[in-house]
Amino acid sequence: MMSSIEYIESVYQKLEKRDSHQKEFLQAIKEFFNTIQPAIEKNPEIIKWNLLEQIVEPERIFSFRVPWLDDQQNVQVNKGFRVQFNSAMGPYKGGLRFHPTVNESILKFLGFEQTFKNSLTGLPIGGGKGGADFDPKGKSETEIMRFCQSYMTELQKYIGPATDIPAGDIGVGKREIGYLYGQYKRLNGAHSGVLTGKPILLNGSLARTEATGYGLIYYTEEMLQANGKSFQGQQVVISGSGNVAIYAAMKAQEYGATVVAVSDSNGYIYDSNGIDLLLLKEIKEVRRGRLTEYAKEKELSTYQEGSVWDLETAYDIALPCATQNEIDRYQAATLIKNGVYCVSEGANMPSSIEAIELYQENNLLYGPSKAANAGGVATSTLEMAQNAQHSHWSFEQVDVELKKIMINIFKQVEDTCVEYDLGRNYLAGVNIHSFLTVAEAMISQGVV
Ligand code: NDP
Repeated sequence: MMSSIEYIESVYQKLEKRDSHQKEFLQAIKEFFNTIQPAIEKNPEIIKWNLLEQIVEPERIFSFRVPWLDDQQNVQVNKGFRVQFNSAMGPYKGGLRFHPTVNESILKFLGFEQTFKNSLTGLPIGGGKGGADFDPKGKSETEIMRFCQSYMTELQKYIGPATDIPAGDIGVGKREIGYLYGQYKRLNGAHSGVLTGKPILLNGSLARTEATGYGLIYYTEEMLQANGKSFQGQQVVISGSGNVAIYAAMKAQEYGATVVAVSDSNGYIYDSNGIDLLLLKEIKEVRRGRLTEYAKEKELSTYQEGSVWDLETAYDIALPCATQNEIDRYQAATLIKNGVYCVSEGANMPSSIEAIELYQENNLLYGPSKAANAGGVATSTLEMAQNAQHSHWSFEQVDVELKKIMINIFKQVEDTCVEYDLGRNYLAGVNIHSFLTVAEAMISQGVV
């Protein structure tokens, strides 16, 4: 029988050959494979059942044409996808992303990570992801509505409240989920359990909008406290100014931190006295405006084009909440030079493999996205529970559950680190724990 190292290597080589053009997907697999060898060593049935090769292959992928009429009556065509990655733990669950960069590689990496993230929540959900290469920026409200309707006209064939329950992600918030739900309902009749992240009026859950950002802070605070630290009095930089970033900023501030910078895809605003989060929320959520507006209205703040991770100033905690690979090795080195001792991820795979290596070499506290941003999907599952019971929970009830789930995720990771003698290698703890959970579920259902 092959050794665990040879087995991991052989599966990776095969995948690299087959999916050589899918760089984000291969990166997610590599990061995962770099850490799980001790789990395979201890559990030889993983090799016996060739489980790794199964776990890296999505159960199925749909890709489809999405034609829609713009406001000038021109027909536009986008490419839509749904990746149903792994249903071992339950129905496929994972968001929809509308962004011009969306392609199969990105959705496969997201679906792969979602599978393990979801297993950490302890809730009965498998992993999926979807979206389209549609760019919502600069589109009118009616164009966005028509796009969502056309996208759902095809997607509705593949989803259902017991099989696949999509939610939001980049470019897909409550408004888009509302339009998607409306079209699903037109075609199938009402079933509010088919999408999560819905507006409250359409049976959405209170605290879902806040959940990923709040959950990130609950998880990170737990990790900080386990290491004798806390958000209290710390200077925090957050990338992005969307759903995850805004609510992470608000909760970090509530926990006594000062959020000194946030960003968008063009640049960032910096204010050493702390960003005015109510103004930020008003600009992003109500006006759907840009950060340049903030800088014009707040004289003490500065606006700088480029990545916030190139900012050279002293601060303590970095919370990447924008997108994948936003921190490369050079930017990780800048963070370390700035005195950052903790990086915790609201976005999915925001750190390159080389950046993570630098965090680890420099002994940073690192909260990997699979664990740190699981609060969104956990709360989506609470929304499914409310829909199934035809009930509505209070904001506090959902928030209490969310906090419990995030604390429990960190506890499982810590326990795994102890069991496998991993020290503070929380990335390995996250990957090993979630891998073994999904692997056991797959094996117990029969693998062929
Ligand atoms: P939003 O669309 O609400 O916001 C995304 C933010 O990130 C915007 O400020 C956007 O700037 C910025 N951004 C997007 N792409 C880039 C890029 N290529 N370079 C720099 N900045 C960029 O998305 P969310 O807040 O929902 O999602 C953010 C991240 O969190 C994603 O990685 C997502 O997968 C992850 N996540 C989201 C969850 C959720 O519940 N929404 C759950 C778990 C993870 P601009 O406006 O200029 O485009």
